[in-house]
Amino acid sequence: MIKNSRFPLFFLLILAMPSAISHDGSPTPKPIDKASMLKQLGWTYHIPIKTRKLRNGLYMLEGFGGNVAASIGSDGTVIVDNQASELIPRILDQITNLGGEKIDFVINTHWHWDHADGNIALGKTESVIISHTNSRDMMKSDNLINLVYMSYIQPAYPINALPQITFDDEMILHFNNEDIRLMHFGAAHTTGDAAILFQESNVIHLGDLYMKGFYPFIDARNGGSIDGVIYFLTKVIEEINQDTLVIPGHGPISNYDELVDYVLMLKKVRDRITRMIKAGSSLEDVLSAGITAEWDDGLGDNKQFINRAFMSLTHRIEE
Ligand SMILES: [Zn+2]
Repeated sequence: MIKNSRFPLFFLLILAMPSAISHDGSPTPKPIDKASMLKQLGWTYHIPIKTRKLRNGLYMLEGFGGNVAASIGSDGTVIVDNQASELIPRILDQITNLGGEKIDFVINTHWHWDHADGNIALGKTESVIISHTNSRDMMKSDNLINLVYMSYIQPAYPINALPQITFDDEMILHFNNEDIRLMHFGAAHTTGDAAILFQESNVIHLGDLYMKGFYPFIDARNGGSIDGVIYFLTKVIEEINQDTLVIPGHGPISNYDELVDYVLMLKKVRDRITRMIKAGSSLEDVLSAGITAEWDDGLGDNKQFINRAFMSLTHRIEE
């Protein structure tokens, strides 16, 4: 069962394209253009932007691509992630409806296009963009993202779309009566992930470190690893508590208990793959072994996840 109604086409296409999945981890599928990728994902810029009030002046905006958090208050507006330049006018409309005026600060959880392409529009305004140092570095060049069933070359951003402020381990933005903590615990989904904790509201945005309703994508080609995701999320769990609301990179709002269960799932899958690698199993063996059976009803197709986890555990990075 697929809980997230935005993704059925995405999964159907994966299931319908076994020949596109390379069982030995290479070669990378031929890169496709953005319009073709959006079509495969079943994503459209015409999707309505839904807003959901979380706590205090903190909202979650859903629409195209990654979830957006918006803190709107006496100091102004800060958003976390920004979907796409095409969506920025409508995101701004929603912020205005909620009492904001303009976007003062933009935090990128990481550099992937479906979370950060709004930088291209926002970079032309007075918004100040903040990211992890490694995400800014990635945004400076073209980067191939291997999604296993397809690949895409994310183009370098123009200079004004690059973050003006970067951090390495942690920074705190004191804004709207919140300590907004940006935390980095090493390479995980990418090499430049940031978890954003709104300390007073007790809400955290985890970007693509956490997905609700489906298995994660780990960008193994660009330095991500399943071990890194487990380590990063374990450190995050030490910083939050049972009342923390959790904004996933994709999917509906979540909570502490669901995040803890997700990390347990990741650890079990990691341990099962590791055992099979030690026993000499190939990626094809792991894919056909049913190692995620108890979660497949809730999380859907596992091929991309197992492929990327296997590749990161065997340290085989394809060209
Ligand atoms: Zn991502």
